[in-house]
Amino acid sequence: MKTVQCSTHGRQPMALVCQHVADGLTKRERVGFFWASDSGNPRPDAWCSDCNDRVAATKGEWIGDALDQLDPKVLCGACYDMAKLFHMGGNPWS
Ligand SMILES: [Zn+2]
Ligand SMILES: [Zn+2]
Repeated sequence: MKTVQCSTHGRQPMALVCQHVADGLTKRERVGFFWASDSGNPRPDAWCSDCNDRVAATKGEWIGDALDQLDPKVLCGACYDMAKLFHMGGNPWS
């Protein structure tokens, strides 16, 4: 498993999310949280509701505008868990 060094959480498993999910966590703006359910990965690649609309328009393919605007960012596993909780309506800072 690939790992990443997080300034907050130390060395963690690596996860990928769209730029909006990563940005939203930093700015504390909820943007939705979607992922492909067909994997055994406990932290599958995830994206926001706008990206979800764009990929729906390409019939689920990450191509063209959907891919251009995805611009995936690396998150550590713990940050991913926080992003998921936050964007799905929870408060990871409580
Ligand atoms: Zn997005
Ligand atoms: Zn982290």
